[in-house]
Amino acid sequence: TKPVHVIGGGMAGSEASWQLASAGVPVVLHEMRPVRGTEAHITDGLAELVCSNSFRSDDTETNAVGLLHEEMRRANSLIMTTGDKTQVPAGGALAVDRVAFSDAVTKTLSEHPLITVERGEIAGLPPADWDSVIIATGPLTSPALARAVLDLTDEDSLAFFDAIAPIVERDSINMDIAWMQSRYDKGETEADKAAYINCPMDKAQYEAFIQALLSAPHTEFKEWEKDTPYFEACLPIEVMAERGPETLRFGPMKPRGLTNRHKPDEKPHAVVQLRQDNQLGTLFNMVGFQTKLKYGAQADIFRTIPGLEDAKFARLGGIHRNTFLNSPKLLDNQLRLKARPALRFAGQVIGVEGYVESAAMGLMAGRFAAAERLGKTLTPPPETTAFGALISHVTGGHMSGPKASFQPMNVNFGLFPAVETPAKTADGKRIRGKEKSLARKRAMSARALRDIDSWLQAPV
Ligand code: FAD
Repeated sequence: TKPVHVIGGGMAGSEASWQLASAGVPVVLHEMRPVRGTEAHITDGLAELVCSNSFRSDDTETNAVGLLHEEMRRANSLIMTTGDKTQVPAGGALAVDRVAFSDAVTKTLSEHPLITVERGEIAGLPPADWDSVIIATGPLTSPALARAVLDLTDEDSLAFFDAIAPIVERDSINMDIAWMQSRYDKGETEADKAAYINCPMDKAQYEAFIQALLSAPHTEFKEWEKDTPYFEACLPIEVMAERGPETLRFGPMKPRGLTNRHKPDEKPHAVVQLRQDNQLGTLFNMVGFQTKLKYGAQADIFRTIPGLEDAKFARLGGIHRNTFLNSPKLLDNQLRLKARPALRFAGQVIGVEGYVESAAMGLMAGRFAAAERLGKTLTPPPETTAFGALISHVTGGHMSGPKASFQPMNVNFGLFPAVETPAKTADGKRIRGKEKSLARKRAMSARALRDIDSWLQAPV
């Protein structure tokens, strides 16, 4: 069998390669690092997590990304099984040791007899004799390849900004001031209930902090970058501060569900949370603290946070431009480029956002390409599943409208078709408000898992 070529060994490309090889199809996986780097990756490992180490909520019943986790586990996902094996405590979230995670994915793929990993940039369109290719080069696709794809599709570039949060060395945090606790003590084990480090601020400290953010120097955008929007779920903290003095206190610095262990009677005005970043527990990242402040200013301002006076930063925050395709117009529902069906796309570059969503689209592209190579056609999973809802979002199942309306998206229940939920409980009480919304999510999740099981079991 001729190999399928996968370009990009990130979240999507790693998963796609695994799915292909698991179906018995040989793969050549092309990863440009370490020959050529990106603005965000710092290692040469496959599936490197460039910012947070979290796969977000692992609640499979009432959270859409938790549901996607479960669908991926059932579909033999390498990214999910490796994530489960390299997990670190994080309340109700699934967070991983980024080094152990990437090492394990790299080892599994490099040692697979059907996978050849080739290091080097594919600096233009792939050669015409590669008859099946998956392009999974991510938000930081190298410029030469990005340009070639844009030329092929006759599109202007579409892009937005994404930012990275700083990482702090655990033993540089003053635990006489900070304390360990998950918001609302969430989590099943004691470790999960105390997974986060919390740094409290009183009103005066918070106001001074906001002022410092507003007046600090930040990285300037280049002229051509000025009209590029931010991804709303990943706004830099200084941009949030510009929107109003209380924005951060209702966002990443909200004090709700947290009690200062050192001063239980004093309600903190704001709280900075840090999440464990590696299995050893020696590194913690600042949750929601993505920023484009200049490095010097970041260190100075973050050391005014109580508990972080002597913080040592393993990495400071930064900001990068993300490129993605106008997929609803350009791709079919097998994730193939309509203009050149030998090319499939997967991952963030098709307009999903997030590690898990990117890997999920790699999983789908891998399965589509494997079926095709084996002379079969795999229809996409139904829209009632998280996989199907995402494919439908990117390939325009529900969309017609101008291309400006297509924006990358995390998986969410808004992408799923409506579901019937009972109006009353078993004992006759009306279900309202939050309970109603939870009942709806539970019903959508149950339907999704039923439907993904049938899809996975159906003969191809
Ligand atoms: P990647 O994981 O980036 O993989 C693409 C791979 O392709 C890379 O290894 C790259 O080296 C390689 N490559 C690129 N061009 C070529 C070429 N021409 N030839 C060969 N190889 C090439 N998501 C989250 O869930 N949480 C976060 O905290 C988060 N933070 C982010 C921060 C930044 C700065 C950025 C840019 C994105 C962030 N994302 C985050 C979004 C996104 O989910 C991740 O970028 C995710 O890794 C995307 O997966 P991917 O497989 O599409 O791309």
